[in-house]
Amino acid sequence: MADYIVRAHAADKQVRAFAATTAGLVEEARIIHRTTPVATAALGRLLTAGAMMGRMLKGDNNLLTLQVTGDGPLGMLLATADAKGNVKGYVSHPEVSVPPKAPGKLDVGGAVGKGMLRVIKDLGLKEPYTGQVELRSGEIAEDLAYYFAVSEQVPSAVALGFLTDTDCSVRQAGGFIIQPLPGCDEHVISTLEEKIAKLEGITGLLVAGLSPEQILEHVLDGFELEILEQITARYHCNCSREKIEQVVLSLGSKEVESMIANNEPVEIHCHFCNTRYVLSVAELERLLSEAGQQG
Ligand SMILES: [Zn+2]
Repeated sequence: MADYIVRAHAADKQVRAFAATTAGLVEEARIIHRTTPVATAALGRLLTAGAMMGRMLKGDNNLLTLQVTGDGPLGMLLATADAKGNVKGYVSHPEVSVPPKAPGKLDVGGAVGKGMLRVIKDLGLKEPYTGQVELRSGEIAEDLAYYFAVSEQVPSAVALGFLTDTDCSVRQAGGFIIQPLPGCDEHVISTLEEKIAKLEGITGLLVAGLSPEQILEHVLDGFELEILEQITARYHCNCSREKIEQVVLSLGSKEVESMIANNEPVEIHCHFCNTRYVLSVAELERLLSEAGQQG
């Protein structure tokens, strides 16, 4: 089953909901970054949330970045998503393993540690919008719910789940975000809160093989769910040789001249897709002369 995000309304447009199935893109991240199960879980949760939150953006060129900087062994985690279901990310230390919390329970919070969650929205304005909160548990879903409550003043239900096979590949991944819209009836909010408090987590729903639509139907049972759209989600890095050349040029002609003077090729590594770009001295000279011609 291909990955996708569902956007929905409920309770007569008083509530908005997102749900996603992301096993494919989380598995792709695992292969690119060679993550251990706990690193796959942490990055997978962040990518899943990023894909859904990216869909909350209004403009096609807007970008959302989630950055988790904890003092745990995983180091920094980052996920960037657009509004069209494209998401990419990385973790500083994909090779880290920590003892499980309980048999079969990965200790994501322990691997992330204490620190900050930053949400950066690039809406095409001069300055991006940045909101940040301290991590609550490092388990990602709880931290995002806390961010929504504190930084955006929207009480939100966030659930992110993940399941591996015995060979460490990703069997299931997904999640949901449910939020009241402005003007939502207090009674709707409290009924929803009670219902969500009784949920036993999303992993059970994923194990049962529920689709994002079925997950929302289950969670929002009795709230007149209205599915609005289904968007394909994928792991996608948009780096290219041309973009890398532009980055090198943006360092300024003096910098490029000194690279040429070093007489060694320049190697640039894309953290998101693990591609290595090598620019030879001849290519650097060509770049410099083309830039000169453009004035
Ligand atoms: Zn890349």
